[in-house]
Amino acid sequence: MSDFAIEKVDNENKKLDYGGKEVAFDLLVTVPTNKGDELMERSGLGDDLNYVPTNKSTLQSIAHSNIFVLGDATNIPASKAGSVAHFEAEILTENILRFINNQPLKEEFDGHANCFVETGNGKALLIDFNYTHEPVEGTFPFPGIGPLRLLKESRINHMGKLAFRWIYWNMLLKGNHIPFVSSTMQEAGKNF
Ligand SMILES: Cc1cc2nc3c(=O)[nH]c(=O)nc-3n(C[C@H](O)[C@H](O)[C@H](O)COP(=O)(O)OP(=O)(O)OC[C@H]3O[C@@H](n4cnc5c(N)ncnc54)[C@H](O)[C@@H]3O)c2cc1C
Repeated sequence: MSDFAIEKVDNENKKLDYGGKEVAFDLLVTVPTNKGDELMERSGLGDDLNYVPTNKSTLQSIAHSNIFVLGDATNIPASKAGSVAHFEAEILTENILRFINNQPLKEEFDGHANCFVETGNGKALLIDFNYTHEPVEGTFPFPGIGPLRLLKESRINHMGKLAFRWIYWNMLLKGNHIPFVSSTMQEAGKNF
């Protein structure tokens, strides 16, 4: 189960309560509520969880039109992940320039996330998803070819993760675009 908040834990009887429903457990592993930094509260920019209310498509602050937000600081319903910050940066830069030049903002960001998940024994998964699609099966980055497989454990995915280390230090940190990887989620070659 995911995406629900526990209201009460009864450890003696090994039951938890959420929204009036009781669920039994043997071993309970919980993730505390994720929050932004207190400085966001002090600055008056944050919401109840210290995230900055942000337009999820344009990345413009909802309260202040001259502020744009990306990465873990936003309250948009996307993953708090490096790939999300990277994909956001592409549209954010363009929208800041559009804002300065009094042009309409692009409503382009779709919540795209793309992450390797190491699964051990020299294998890894690759997941690709956005605001509207849970991680899908398919091929990446080339439709029908791959060589990476989405949502499937494979050695080539692990090799992809190792290659990404070089890409990170030598391309991303220099601000270079990764060829064939789009900042929005592509549908071709994927099972929706
Ligand atoms: C343990 C861990 C593992 C992760 N693994 C992955 C992964 O495998 N894949 C993935 O995609 N993502 C991963 N993430 C998430 C990823 O690291 C974040 O989503 C990403 O770094 C967010 O980027 P950001 O620029 O928004 O924030 P950050 O990278 O947190 O950058 C914020 C910067 O602001 C600075 N700062 C803070 N307060 C102030 C201040 N008052 N004044 C000036 N500077 C300040 C901080 O020092 C920091 O350098 C992981 C995160 C953690 C914690």
